[in-house]
Amino acid sequence: RAKEAGRGRWTLFDPKENARAVSRYAVSVRMPTALDRGEFFIDYQPMIDLSNGAMTGVEALVRWRHPQLGVLGPEEFVGVAEETGLIMPLGRWVLEQACEQAAEWVAAFGDRAPKLSVNLAVRQARNAGLVADIERVLRTTGLDPSMLQLEITESTVVGPEDEALKALHALVDMGVSLAVDDFGTGWSNLAYLRDLPVSNLKIAGSFVGDLHDPAKDTHLGWRIVSGLVSLAHTLGLSVTAEGVESRADAERLRLMGCDLAQGWHFGRPVRPAEIARRIAEADPERAAGTAPGAGPEGVD
Ligand code: C2E
Ligand code: MG
Ligand code: MG
Ligand code: MG
Repeated sequence: RAKEAGRGRWTLFDPKENARAVSRYAVSVRMPTALDRGEFFIDYQPMIDLSNGAMTGVEALVRWRHPQLGVLGPEEFVGVAEETGLIMPLGRWVLEQACEQAAEWVAAFGDRAPKLSVNLAVRQARNAGLVADIERVLRTTGLDPSMLQLEITESTVVGPEDEALKALHALVDMGVSLAVDDFGTGWSNLAYLRDLPVSNLKIAGSFVGDLHDPAKDTHLGWRIVSGLVSLAHTLGLSVTAEGVESRADAERLRLMGCDLAQGWHFGRPVRPAEIARRIAEADPERAAGTAPGAGPEGVD
């Protein structure tokens, strides 16, 4: 009986919610030391120019090899990192690590190296030291500012008087470019586009993914995507579709004039050696020989 009562009480909790709470705790307890222990690593996902199929960019996506929980994706810990402030050292580490990697690709492959795109947390964009941090990272890694794009979200800039705007303008003056990530999901006032020196809009994967949700109107979904592409072009911006999972979607996006695409159809986020292999493979001369940096996949 007691057992049954216990079990009955247990069902008051959603077991999934509970599991999440536990791992959130595990995550927040270990995170402060995880950076020093070298438990984070970065995968890179190809961004493809739809007009010619070339991999012109890669997005750095952070992961955490947690000793008990296995490899965690950013959805599991970036939120906690933002709440606790750990996003600052973590974000700095990602920038440093990714710029170092991108500079290595430039050294090995010259102008065929992909441009690097790094996600910037809201807190990072609001931090007074941001511009100096990025200046320093570019200097120490030797990466040209034109090879770096920062992805911000619609919630990063809240108004024309926003302090973050100054920093973002300074970065663009340095030659770094800006993209708006998850564009169209933020319920935001689009007027921010007049104040923000962005050059690319990334259409959230949820728009493209929803095109295959049988419960949703596919025709309308495509018209929204097509409208976002037009909006970007009207503003003189390039546009990237995220979450492209099929050849048919890629073709349709290409036909509507979408400039870039990212998604499983073109490649999942992978270890840097795999990116190097793809760059080398795209070049007929180098593909015959051995490409630098394209060794077997290792741990980091
Ligand atoms: P995001 O910047 O919008 O990145 C795209 C996410 O979509 C990635 O998830 C990627 O793995 C996933 N994705 C790519 N192609 C497909 C596809 O075809 N289908 C589906 N279903 N998903 C696809 P991931 O790696 O889990 O990252 C989630 C989010 O975490 C990112 O969304 C970004 O907002 C954040 N994030 C990742 N790395 C960092 C970082 O270094 N700093 C900060 N602040 N945030 C990061
Ligand atoms: Mg992103
Ligand atoms: Mg996105
Ligand atoms: Mg996202």
